[in-house]
Amino acid sequence: MTAVHNVLISGAGIAGPALARRLHHHGIEATVVERAPAPRSGGYAIDVRGVALDAAERMGVLDGIIAHRTRIATASLVDTHGRRVTGFSTSQTAREGRSHELLRGDLVRLLHEPTTEYTEYLYGDSITGMEQGPGGVRVTFERAEPRVFDLVVGADGLHSNTRRLAFGPEGPHRRFLESYISIFTVPNHLGLDREVHLYNLPGLGMGLYHTPRAEGAKALLMVRTDEETGIDRRTAEEQRRFLHEAFDGRGWESARVLSEMDRAPDFYFDSVTQVRMDRWSTGRITLLGDAGYCPSPMSGQGSSLAVVGAYVLAEELARSEDHTTALAAYEARMRPFADANQAVADAGSGFLAPRTRLGIAARNLAVRAAPLLSRLGTFDTRLARAAEALDLDAPAPVPRRRTGPGRLGRRGGHRARSGDGRRHATGRAPLRHL
Ligand SMILES: Cc1cc2nc3c(=O)[nH]c(=O)nc-3n(C[C@H](O)[C@H](O)[C@H](O)COP(=O)(O)OP(=O)(O)OC[C@H]3O[C@@H](n4cnc5c(N)ncnc54)[C@H](O)[C@@H]3O)c2cc1C
Repeated sequence: MTAVHNVLISGAGIAGPALARRLHHHGIEATVVERAPAPRSGGYAIDVRGVALDAAERMGVLDGIIAHRTRIATASLVDTHGRRVTGFSTSQTAREGRSHELLRGDLVRLLHEPTTEYTEYLYGDSITGMEQGPGGVRVTFERAEPRVFDLVVGADGLHSNTRRLAFGPEGPHRRFLESYISIFTVPNHLGLDREVHLYNLPGLGMGLYHTPRAEGAKALLMVRTDEETGIDRRTAEEQRRFLHEAFDGRGWESARVLSEMDRAPDFYFDSVTQVRMDRWSTGRITLLGDAGYCPSPMSGQGSSLAVVGAYVLAEELARSEDHTTALAAYEARMRPFADANQAVADAGSGFLAPRTRLGIAARNLAVRAAPLLSRLGTFDTRLARAAEALDLDAPAPVPRRRTGPGRLGRRGGHRARSGDGRRHATGRAPLRHL
């Protein structure tokens, strides 16, 4: 039925192997090119939530996800002396919907391992050029010989190389959410046991969490800014200096965390950014996961969008007679789901690092009131609703052509609403995911 028989996927993160797996299920061959020398393991905790759990079940990885849960039980908001101000248990947040939390590296491994039997992986390589013709896309690589594919899928993350080659520079597709985030492994100095501690000063958040799934503890640093500083594009040394300037002498565990940061081998730093695009496909090239519609860590839905997107894209490729129909149907089904999940991100930064003392106090009050609001049935379940907002078995809606100006409205993206002190109850979720 399908006219697509061989697909090149750029990126072996979450979306890439998930797509390779579903393409194999539908009898379509995939080759994956990954810049790193091997699948990237380790990393922070993520949630697979809502309809993504159904997609994961159909991919055969749901049992693995359940077996690899982080089993984090409580979250505490602490003061400069480490004393608990307030907090909540994860059984409380579990009422907000179907969700399992695991380490990103565990999910990558679960999705990737079985695909090595039937998928060709080109590690340590990257696409350098793509030329579209009626018979396919001729792709050149840094290392491998040029080859022709029926379709190219960019699943290469927030700073997608495929997107840059096919749609131009990143700038116009970014929506900066006025925050920078860093995460890395530290020794478990506090002896945390399956718990998260979060400390705040206005505009700053420092978290430590422990899961039995990883050595030591994870440190999370978050800095709110009004403007983009470009620091995310600088060297790791400059990023560390930026964090020292923000957190040096600021209380709680800052001295220990900063000194561990300087030697952490898995130091991660990036801006909190969404990807918003008018269209995800051009000819025989399309985008999947963060590359096309990154919702940002503040939504807690990036991995779920990647898994669901892979499922839907593979299904549409298998049932359409040509790639144009398939890609239009993929976008028509996925865009409302991606939009709904991107919309929940704005409350996340306001929860993790409120900008003002008043904002911190309002957030703490919302956490204290949450069990009552939940019992009264008024607790905001926007995230849980967004996570369920796609029917895996629905037929593709008839695609409508988009007209008028782009969704971003102006070049360079929207400003995020700060929202401190508002909708904090919804924003509890990101604390558990990082
Ligand atoms: C701190 C933090 C916390 C998060 N918390 C959550 C959460 O709670 N819940 C949730 O659902 N999501 C969360 N996310 C988001 C989640 O990690 C991403 O949305 C998800 O990983 C997206 O998957 P992906 O496959 O699209 O991209 P990625 O996982 O980023 O994978 C992209 C892959 O492409 C590769 N690549 C990059 N460039 C090239 C190139 N030139 N050529 C070939 N390969 C390339 C990369 O090495 C990588 O393997 C969080 C993210 C962060 C940073």
